[in-house]
Amino acid sequence: MDAMNIAIVGAGFLGVASAWHLTQIPGARITLFDTKGIGAGASGIAAGLLHPFAGAKATRNWMADESFPETLALLKIASQTIATPVFKQSGIFRPATTLQQHEDFYKRASEYADCSWCETTPSPLFTKPGLFIPAGIQVDCPLYLEGLWKACSKRGAKLIIETINSPSDLSDFDISVFTIGTGFLDLKEVMTPPLSAVKGQLLELCYDDILECGVSSHAYLAQNKHKIITAGATYEHSWQVEGPDIERCEAEIRAKVAAFCPKLADLALHECKAGYRAVTKDKKPFFVEVSPNCYCLGGLGSKGLLYHAWLAKRLFKTLQK
Ligand SMILES: Cc1cc2nc3c(=O)[nH]c(=O)nc-3n(C[C@H](O)[C@H](O)[C@H](O)COP(=O)(O)OP(=O)(O)OC[C@H]3O[C@@H](n4cnc5c(N)ncnc54)[C@H](O)[C@@H]3O)c2cc1C
Repeated sequence: MDAMNIAIVGAGFLGVASAWHLTQIPGARITLFDTKGIGAGASGIAAGLLHPFAGAKATRNWMADESFPETLALLKIASQTIATPVFKQSGIFRPATTLQQHEDFYKRASEYADCSWCETTPSPLFTKPGLFIPAGIQVDCPLYLEGLWKACSKRGAKLIIETINSPSDLSDFDISVFTIGTGFLDLKEVMTPPLSAVKGQLLELCYDDILECGVSSHAYLAQNKHKIITAGATYEHSWQVEGPDIERCEAEIRAKVAAFCPKLADLALHECKAGYRAVTKDKKPFFVEVSPNCYCLGGLGSKGLLYHAWLAKRLFKTLQK
């Protein structure tokens, strides 16, 4: 069989997962391009919460049953490759801080067997009852990307640090795949569904103890690094400052954390980080075949961990035919 040269542009969750799946195609040679390197976009700073009830009302997410196991499979491959767990399945608790949340979360617990209403909170840190999702996962995102990319490299995939400005830059390749997050807003030559960038900021707070589970209410908490808790995130549709805006982020996130976990709201600041989500109008990811040899995948919004592996597998199935 002739070798098939495949270029993937963008080394976030989607690009690295695509590289992994496409290395399974016999004869495929994978080259991953990124302006800055692995995890340089939103994926490198994501808080790492993964569960099928994301969103304000905790409705079961679109395609969650199909996509969640695909992500879990890649998390295990990454962990095995670097012989270090890149995730913990500690469960995720969704404290209800308003009457509306109480109503929504309570209803969800009555609708689905894989979540339950907790009048007694899983930790005394939390001051509100809420919804507990036992399958919920906290992912160390930089470590996950490191592990998965190592698995890709072992199968011969190569990384090139370069910005791709047009599909014509890749004319030497048989197939090109764009997974460039908010980079689509600058790449006018390829058609994607209308996208907007939503800025997200989070706080890394110093914490000596262990957080028993991930938490997601109007703000969320995750613990993926030693002695650090991540508290996030803002959803900014306009901004004056590019990158971290500590004052704005602290004011918003600390107040939201105080509503369900006052003891952690005033922890000392370690770092403030910012990234940009690529969001479609219907908040669903897109998979566009621009031509038989050019594909665009993206629009993961706030649910990159949930959708990336499933979308990458869909690409694999399409190209395998
Ligand atoms: C603060 C914050 C917290 C989040 N927390 C979570 C969470 O807890 N759980 C969750 O599921 N999701 C979370 N998300 C969402 C998640 O991070 C995104 O959905 C996901 O990272 C998108 O992945 P991606 O691979 O599509 O894009 P990205 O990770 O943004 O990757 C795109 C890559 O393309 C590269 N690139 C762009 N243009 C070009 C070009 N022209 N040439 C070459 N390279 C290019 C960039 O350098 C970048 O590395 C969070 C997002 C933010 C901002």
